[in-house]
Amino acid sequence: MKITRLTVYQIDLPLNEPYYLSGGRLKFEKLDSTFVRIDTDEGLSGWGEGCPWGHTYLPAHGPGIRAGIETLAPALIGQDPRSLDHINRVMDVQLPGHPYVKSPIDMACWDILGKSTGLPLWQLLGGNAATPVAVNSSISTGTPDEMLTLIQKAAAKGYTVHSAKVGGTDIDMDIARIEAISSNLPAGHKVTFDVNRAWQPATAIQVLNSVTARDWVEQPCETLDQCAHVASRVSNPIMLDECMHSFQDHLEAWQRRACEGVKVKPNRVGGLTRARQIRDFGVSVGWQMHIEDLGGSALADTAAIHLAASTPEANRLASWLCHYHLSVDPVPGQGARNQNGFATPPSAPGLGVTPNPTLLGDPVATYA
Ligand code: MG
Repeated sequence: MKITRLTVYQIDLPLNEPYYLSGGRLKFEKLDSTFVRIDTDEGLSGWGEGCPWGHTYLPAHGPGIRAGIETLAPALIGQDPRSLDHINRVMDVQLPGHPYVKSPIDMACWDILGKSTGLPLWQLLGGNAATPVAVNSSISTGTPDEMLTLIQKAAAKGYTVHSAKVGGTDIDMDIARIEAISSNLPAGHKVTFDVNRAWQPATAIQVLNSVTARDWVEQPCETLDQCAHVASRVSNPIMLDECMHSFQDHLEAWQRRACEGVKVKPNRVGGLTRARQIRDFGVSVGWQMHIEDLGGSALADTAAIHLAASTPEANRLASWLCHYHLSVDPVPGQGARNQNGFATPPSAPGLGVTPNPTLLGDPVATYA
C-alpha cells in the first residue's frame, strides 16, 4: 500500500467563551485547526487533525502545521502508511523537530492501519475493550467564586474531575482559589490545579506550602528544571505538561523525580506513535497520566481517547475533551463524546471518525 495524496484543510474553531489561563496572561478566543486526509493506492483513506491550543500556548502554531506538511509531503508520497515507525523516521529526517507538524500525518496513518486491519485504534494501541474514559472539565481562571460556579456547571454535565486553572503573581489569591475549590468540591469529585507555568519557583513553594490541599498540581513553573526544584520541596503530587516535548524529556523527568504523572498529548509530542511510547514508559515507572490532545475538534479528541482507553486504569486519570469548548462541530455527532462524565472510543476500524469534506471548505493544499 502506498500513499498517493495528502489533502489539507484549514478550519477556524471558535470557543464558546473566551478562555483565560496562566494567571490571565493568556487569552484564547478561537483555535486554528488543520485537517489532513491521506489517500492510498488501495482506496483506503485516513484522517488526522492538528490543532495547537493557540499560538501563545506552546512553540507550535496552526500555519506552521501547513508549512511543515508542504515540506514533508514529497517524502511521504509512495510510502506505506501502515509502517508507522518508518513513517516517523522519514518525517524526522526531512524535518527534525516540529513534532506538532507530524501529529496529524501520524494520526491519519494510524487511521489507515486500523481500516486495513479491521481493528479500532484502542485495540491496535494495546487495549482490551472500548473502555469508557472519565473526562475532566477545564475551569478558566477567575475569582474563587467564579471558578466554583464553573465547577458546578461542569458537575451538572456529569463531570466529576476538574482541571482548575490557577497561577499568577498574587500569592494570596492563588492560596484562596486553591483552598476554596479544594474544600468546596462536590462530594466524590477530584481536582488538579493547573498553573500553566505561571509561577516562579519561590512562588510555587510559598503557595503549596501554605495550602492544606494535597490535590495534584500541574506545570507549576516554566521549565523542567524549575519544576523538579519545586517537586523536591512540596507535598503535592506534581503533573508535568507544557515542558515535555520528547521522550528524552520524560526520561529526564523520571530520573530527576520531577513528577508523579504527566499529560500525554499526541499533538505536543508528535503523534500517536510517540505518545504511545511515552504512555508505555509512564506505565512502566508508575506514573498516572491524563491522555488528551492539545486542542481541536472531536477528531483529535477521539484519537487521544483511543490511547487513553488502551491504558491500564491504575495509570490513567481523566481526559479533557477540547471539542466541548467549541461553538462549531466539523464532525457532527461523531467520535468520543461526553456521556455523563465518560467518553468511549468508537469500535469501527481505525479512528472511527470520518469527516465530511463538504463541511471543511475547499482544501488549502493538495500534494500528489
Ligand atoms: Mg496543563
